[in-house]
Amino acid sequence: MNECIFCRIARAEVPSSVVYENDKVIAFDDVAPQAPVHVLIIPREHYEHLGWDVPDDVLAALLGAAHRVAEIKGIADAGYRVIINTGVDGGQVVKHLHVHVVGGARMAHGMVRLAEGS
Ligand code: 5GP
Ligand code: ZN
Repeated sequence: MNECIFCRIARAEVPSSVVYENDKVIAFDDVAPQAPVHVLIIPREHYEHLGWDVPDDVLAALLGAAHRVAEIKGIADAGYRVIINTGVDGGQVVKHLHVHVVGGARMAHGMVRLAEGS
Protein backbone atom coordinates (compact mmCIF):
# COMPACT_ATOMS: atom_id res chain seq x y z
CA MET A 1 0.00 0.00 0.00
CA ASN A 2 1.47 3.34 -1.04
CA GLU A 3 1.14 5.78 1.88
CA CYS A 4 2.64 8.76 0.00
CA ILE A 5 0.32 11.68 0.80
CA PHE A 6 0.31 13.01 -2.76
CA CYS A 7 -0.36 9.52 -4.20
CA ARG A 8 -3.31 9.37 -1.83
CA ILE A 9 -4.52 12.78 -3.03
CA ALA A 10 -4.12 11.61 -6.66
CA ARG A 11 -6.29 8.58 -5.85
CA ALA A 12 -8.83 10.87 -4.11
CA GLU A 13 -8.36 8.94 -0.86
CA VAL A 14 -7.45 12.23 0.81
CA PRO A 15 -9.61 15.27 0.05
CA SER A 16 -8.12 18.21 -1.82
CA SER A 17 -9.39 21.28 -3.61
CA VAL A 18 -8.80 20.23 -7.23
CA VAL A 19 -8.08 23.11 -9.59
CA TYR A 20 -7.30 21.18 -12.79
CA GLU A 21 -6.65 17.59 -13.85
CA ASN A 22 -5.98 15.50 -16.91
CA ASP A 23 -4.81 11.94 -17.55
CA LYS A 24 -1.23 12.68 -16.40
CA VAL A 25 -1.42 15.37 -13.69
CA ILE A 26 -3.66 16.75 -10.98
CA ALA A 27 -3.48 20.29 -9.57
CA PHE A 28 -4.86 21.29 -6.18
CA ASP A 29 -4.63 24.15 -3.69
CA ASP A 30 -1.73 23.98 -1.23
CA VAL A 31 -3.02 23.29 2.29
CA ALA A 32 -0.73 26.02 3.71
CA PRO A 33 -0.61 28.69 0.99
CA GLN A 34 2.40 31.00 0.94
CA ALA A 35 0.78 33.43 -1.52
CA PRO A 36 -2.82 34.43 -2.38
CA VAL A 37 -2.69 31.74 -5.08
CA HIS A 38 -0.64 28.63 -4.26
CA VAL A 39 -1.38 25.52 -6.28
CA LEU A 40 0.54 22.23 -6.44
CA ILE A 41 0.69 20.20 -9.65
CA ILE A 42 1.66 16.55 -9.31
CA PRO A 43 2.05 13.62 -11.70
CA ARG A 44 -0.51 10.89 -11.05
CA GLU A 45 2.37 8.39 -10.99
CA HIS A 46 4.84 8.48 -8.11
CA TYR A 47 8.28 10.00 -8.83
CA GLU A 48 10.22 11.26 -5.84
CA HIS A 49 11.86 14.11 -7.74
CA LEU A 50 13.29 15.23 -11.07
CA GLY A 51 16.12 12.67 -10.78
CA TRP A 52 13.73 9.74 -11.12
CA ASP A 53 13.81 9.36 -14.94
CA VAL A 54 10.54 11.16 -15.25
CA PRO A 55 9.18 10.61 -18.80
CA ASP A 56 9.25 13.62 -21.09
CA ASP A 57 5.49 13.56 -21.57
CA VAL A 58 4.97 13.78 -17.81
CA LEU A 59 7.43 16.69 -17.50
CA ALA A 60 5.65 18.44 -20.34
CA ALA A 61 2.28 17.83 -18.73
CA LEU A 62 3.48 19.29 -15.40
CA LEU A 63 4.79 22.52 -16.92
CA GLY A 64 1.97 22.73 -19.43
CA ALA A 65 -0.52 22.59 -16.60
CA ALA A 66 1.17 25.53 -14.83
CA HIS A 67 -0.12 28.16 -17.23
CA ARG A 68 -3.51 26.45 -17.40
CA VAL A 69 -3.73 26.66 -13.59
CA ALA A 70 -2.73 30.34 -13.73
CA GLU A 71 -5.52 30.99 -16.24
CA ILE A 72 -8.07 29.16 -14.10
CA LYS A 73 -6.98 31.16 -11.04
CA GLY A 74 -7.10 34.44 -12.99
CA ILE A 75 -3.40 35.29 -12.57
CA ALA A 76 -2.04 34.38 -16.01
CA ASP A 77 -1.88 37.99 -17.25
CA ALA A 78 -0.51 39.46 -14.02
CA GLY A 79 2.17 36.76 -13.81
CA TYR A 80 3.18 34.07 -11.41
CA ARG A 81 6.14 31.97 -10.26
CA VAL A 82 6.78 28.25 -10.81
CA ILE A 83 8.97 26.40 -8.30
CA ILE A 84 10.16 22.79 -8.02
CA ASN A 85 11.94 22.11 -4.73
CA THR A 86 14.25 19.13 -5.20
CA GLY A 87 16.02 17.13 -2.49
CA VAL A 88 17.31 18.23 0.88
CA ASP A 89 19.09 21.44 -0.10
CA GLY A 90 16.18 22.29 -2.38
CA GLY A 91 13.89 22.28 0.65
CA GLN A 92 11.70 19.44 -0.62
CA VAL A 93 9.47 18.12 2.17
CA VAL A 94 6.96 15.93 0.37
CA LYS A 95 8.82 13.26 -1.59
CA HIS A 96 6.47 13.10 -4.58
CA LEU A 97 7.50 15.40 -7.45
CA HIS A 98 5.41 18.55 -7.44
CA VAL A 99 5.34 21.96 -9.09
CA HIS A 100 4.36 25.00 -7.03
CA VAL A 101 2.45 27.75 -8.87
CA VAL A 102 2.39 30.88 -6.73
CA GLY A 103 0.96 34.29 -7.50
CA GLY A 104 -1.81 36.74 -6.83
CA ALA A 105 0.64 39.30 -5.44
CA ARG A 106 3.96 40.80 -6.51
CA MET A 107 6.93 38.55 -5.66
CA ALA A 108 10.18 39.92 -4.26
CA HIS A 109 12.84 39.95 -6.97
CA GLY A 110 15.22 37.54 -5.22
CA MET A 111 13.91 34.01 -5.36
CA VAL A 112 16.42 32.31 -3.09
CA ARG A 113 16.33 32.51 0.70
CA LEU A 114 18.89 30.35 2.50
CA ALA A 115 17.93 28.42 5.63
CA GLU A 116 19.23 29.57 9.03
CA GLY A 117 22.85 28.48 9.46
CA SER A 118 23.54 27.84 5.76
P1 5GP B 1 7.79 21.09 -0.66
O1 5GP B 1 8.41 21.85 0.46
O2 5GP B 1 7.94 19.60 -0.52
O3 5GP B 1 8.23 21.60 -2.01
O4 5GP B 1 6.26 21.46 -0.60
C1 5GP B 1 5.29 20.62 -0.09
C2 5GP B 1 4.00 21.41 -0.07
O5 5GP B 1 2.95 20.50 0.12
C3 5GP B 1 3.93 22.45 1.04
O6 5GP B 1 3.68 23.73 0.48
C4 5GP B 1 2.76 21.96 1.90
O7 5GP B 1 1.99 23.02 2.43
C5 5GP B 1 1.97 21.10 0.94
N1 5GP B 1 1.24 19.99 1.55
C6 5GP B 1 1.73 19.06 2.41
N2 5GP B 1 0.78 18.17 2.74
C7 5GP B 1 -0.34 18.54 2.05
C8 5GP B 1 -1.66 17.99 1.98
O8 5GP B 1 -1.98 16.99 2.63
N3 5GP B 1 -2.55 18.63 1.18
C9 5GP B 1 -2.20 19.76 0.46
N4 5GP B 1 -3.17 20.30 -0.31
N5 5GP B 1 -0.97 20.29 0.51
C10 5GP B 1 -0.04 19.69 1.29
ZN1 ZN C 1 3.53 9.58 -4.29
